[in-house]
Amino acid sequence: MEPLNRICLVHYHEIGLKGRNRASFETRLVRNIKAMTAPFHVGEVKRISGRLLVVFKPEASLEEGIALEEALSQVPGVARVSCGYRCERELDQMNRLAVQALDDFGAFESFKVNARRSHTDFAIDSMQINQLVGAHLHEAFPDKAIRMKDPDATVHVEVVQGSAYVYARTIRGIGGLPVGSGGLVVSLLSSGIDSPVATWRMARRGAVCIGVHFSGRPQSDASSEYLVDDIAQVLSRTGCIARVYTAPIGDYQRQIAASAPPALRVILYRRLMLRVAQEIARREGAKALVTGESLGQVASQTLDNIASTDQAVDMPVLRPLIGTDKIDIIADAQRVGTFEISSQDAQDCCTLFMPRNPETHAKIAAVLKAEEGLPVDEWVGVIADDATVRDYPCPAYKHRRPSQTQE
Ligand code: ATP
Ligand code: MG
Repeated sequence: MEPLNRICLVHYHEIGLKGRNRASFETRLVRNIKAMTAPFHVGEVKRISGRLLVVFKPEASLEEGIALEEALSQVPGVARVSCGYRCERELDQMNRLAVQALDDFGAFESFKVNARRSHTDFAIDSMQINQLVGAHLHEAFPDKAIRMKDPDATVHVEVVQGSAYVYARTIRGIGGLPVGSGGLVVSLLSSGIDSPVATWRMARRGAVCIGVHFSGRPQSDASSEYLVDDIAQVLSRTGCIARVYTAPIGDYQRQIAASAPPALRVILYRRLMLRVAQEIARREGAKALVTGESLGQVASQTLDNIASTDQAVDMPVLRPLIGTDKIDIIADAQRVGTFEISSQDAQDCCTLFMPRNPETHAKIAAVLKAEEGLPVDEWVGVIADDATVRDYPCPAYKHRRPSQTQE
């Protein structure tokens, strides 16, 4: 028997709605998917009739097909992924692959065939394909029922552009928009549960994300930096992060702690973090900052505190989790694959020089007064210059050397 031509079809919806942008979105999705299929035995990735076609090399196994199907479903912009086969427009071949596709599907009791013919130059119409392939499958699986309404398995047979595609496996993707279609953001990335999810949500809306992590070094160890690297590696598997800046701010926190009222320390740390993030964003050409805050989640995440941290910067600060319950954030973190890493203990700059009673309703006037004597503007440039940079594969981002001086 000739080798099977294994394929995945990648479906996307939202892109279809975008009118004139459609072509550039599709091009981005193709590029992102090509990058992520690199470790697999994949020959080509191209557009066909409102879908993307991923063609495997002959040596790819079903297991590899399933692994790629799972990986593709996690790529922003992907609504559904179907794993199956391509063949000639010959009924015999369609029949044989329909049996194979149902075998691949796993357990089922009922099935139907759903044929689609996008070119009428193929002599047999969809209804006839349904009947003929259905009859063949009925012979191959005599104890399974053909059911038109809500069958366990649907065998799709699509005749498109000179080939036929046959598949029964379909899994849901994460949806959203391809990374690169939404501009560039700088995301404040701790090793906690929330900020990786906030970053991922922005990537799912098409933003290219650059992380900035503040560690407590040299006042603490570097454990949070390692965790953030692990988190970034997970996010980068689906192209959701391009680069991470790591900025040790322990010494600056110490100076803040030495001069500011204890209750305001945390606010001042946060303002410093936002300012450094904004400086890095300017150097990168990013247009917004992102944090993982969720209203009221911890005592410090109040509207007053949000107002008094945002006041430190001009750039918009996006908070994709602001209205999300912790339980849903955790579910997302598990789905993305960062939860376990984030659950590990690390020495983070947040726990450094923590006051006993942090302010929960900071007043801007008091904050400004506390900051008055500190050379914050000077610090910001130095901290940004001293930050180390690590790059992750992200086809939507052009990795250049980070600039040291402000333009
Ligand atoms: P997370 O789970 O993301 O750590 P959190 O529940 O611990 O959040 P906070 O400590 O109040 O909440 O932090 C709020 C947000 O501030 C974080 O989501 C993150 O965006 C940013 N942030 C906090 N600490 C750091 C850090 N060390 N480096 C970079 N960003 C940070
Ligand atoms: Mg945290």
